[in-house]
Formats: sequence, structure tokens, C-alpha cells
Amino acid sequence: MARRAVRGAAQQSRECSCHDSLLNESKILLVPISLPHPLAGVILGFDMKVLGLVDSHIHLTDFETGTDIHALIERAAAAGVGCLVCNGTSEDDWAEVREVALADSRVVPCFGVHPWYTPRRSDEWLSVLEEFLLSMPSGVGEIGLDRNEQPCDREAQEEAFRAQLDVARRLRRPAMVHCVKAWGWLIDILRSEPVLPCGMLVHSYGGSADLIKPLADMGAYFSFSGKVLDGNFLRARAALLAVPRDRLLVETDAPALMPPPEYRSEVVLTSDKREHNSPVNLPDILRGVAELLGERIDTLHEIVVENAARFLEPILEI
Ligand SMILES: [Zn+2]
Repeated sequence: MARRAVRGAAQQSRECSCHDSLLNESKILLVPISLPHPLAGVILGFDMKVLGLVDSHIHLTDFETGTDIHALIERAAAAGVGCLVCNGTSEDDWAEVREVALADSRVVPCFGVHPWYTPRRSDEWLSVLEEFLLSMPSGVGEIGLDRNEQPCDREAQEEAFRAQLDVARRLRRPAMVHCVKAWGWLIDILRSEPVLPCGMLVHSYGGSADLIKPLADMGAYFSFSGKVLDGNFLRARAALLAVPRDRLLVETDAPALMPPPEYRSEVVLTSDKREHNSPVNLPDILRGVAELLGERIDTLHEIVVENAARFLEPILEI
């Protein structure tokens, strides 16, 4: 995947001077950057006014090549989104995810192999993944199971998922989990594995309400995207009502999962006029979730920020 211009403002930058040259080499040398993460003080101090809303799941590297990611992050910040959890999906995008996070401390990076991309893993994928995870404060993601993916190589998906759960456990990082039409399979795997010490986030939750308690008991947080605002997704709406308030998160999954028109403040148009979702829409999604829950927006705002701070704490206190 091509790299894009994502340089942040100087005060946001965590760039090391050797970074560009490292990325240009065929074998990337990952030099650990200074720790802890700049957001750690904000998050550990629970200064919610400074932190703002957290987009708990986004793919900043999936926007069209040439998209000004820094401007996108600034527009999201102006809308009240102060932190974005940016997921990688395969070895192809990990360097770019790292680059985006190094350029802007509001981006919390995650590295992982998404179930769609398990067939492209190299022989060294697991050791490369660990190198990326150890190179900076980061989570494990996006990982998971997807039976919609055709052909669905269940064995490869399960092997990659279990291996990455093991990495999350050993390195004490939270995991970002994707699950589509694989809920029984997910529960079986999680029950057969030791508990994740830093928990997991099930992104754009689409399972049933019945699974909320068993997943919560295994340390899950539940992140809802604009999809739950679509009246056709009744199961996700029922599940939303069952989520313990201290496990609730919100996300855009931008550029994917465009929310319904009444919950869109921004549409990112591609050069061929396709409409992409934007992190600017997160406050609209929060408003919609508050409506579904019958909760005040400011109360829910406080709840999801506090939840995100708690969930991300293991990453940011590294
Ligand atoms: Zn995702």
C-alpha cells in the first residue's frame, strides 16, 4: 500500500530523525521511541476536557492515497474528537500506521492481521508483529474471525487469531476484535484460551444481547459504530441496551461504515466520487447512541470517555 503524507504539527510530532530513512529500507528497523506515550498523563489523570471523545476504532491508513490525514485529524479534533485508535490490518499497512501515530500523538496505533488478510501473511509475520508492538505504545488489532469472507479458511483465521491473542497476553496489550457471523466460534476460542490481562474491544458490535454478559465476563468492551443507528440492525440495537455502561465505547470505523444521513457531519469524497466516513462524525454517532439508550448526551459523553481512558490505560502507561 502506498504511503501518504501525514506529517503532523511540530508540537504533535513524535518523529525521530532517522524515521524516514528507516521506512525507506526494505527491511524496516524498528527503534523503540521514547516512552510513555504523550497522552498518558492526560488519560491516566482522566482529564476528559483535554482528551475529548475517543474514536475507538478507525483505519486512518485506509483513506484514499493523497488524503490529508493531518487535516482530517484536525477537523475531528475541532469537532471534539481528541484521540483515535488506528488499526492495522496486515503487514502491508503496519509501517504506515506507525508513521501516522509517530506524526500525531492523538493517534494510538494498533498492529495486527485482520481475518480478511490471513492468506497474505509472510512466514515471519508473527515476529514482525511483535517488533512493531514493542516499538511503541500500541494495541493488538485488528484481529478476529469473519465467516462472510469467501473463501473462508477457518483454520488459517483461527490460527492467526489464537497466535495474536497469545501476543496480546504476553505483551500485556488490549486486543481489538472483529467478528462477523462467527459469534459461537469466537466464544469457543476465547473460552479455550487464558484470559487476556488487558481485555479486548469488540468493534462495531453486531452480536446478540445474550452474548454481552459472557463476553463482558471475559474482559470485553463493546464499541458501537454508526451501523447501530441504521434501523435495519435491530439485533445490534437490542445488544446496545444490554451493554454494561462501564463497557460501552463508540467508533466510526472510518473510512468504512458510513452512518445514516442524519448522523453525518462530514463525508470524505474520493476522486471517483465515492463517499467515505469520517472521524468528524463521531459526536453524531454518540448523539444517536444516546437517543437509543434514552441517555443525556453529556452524561454518555463522560461515560464513554472514561471507559476509553480505562481501556487504553495499559497501552498508554507502557
Ligand atoms: Zn476495522
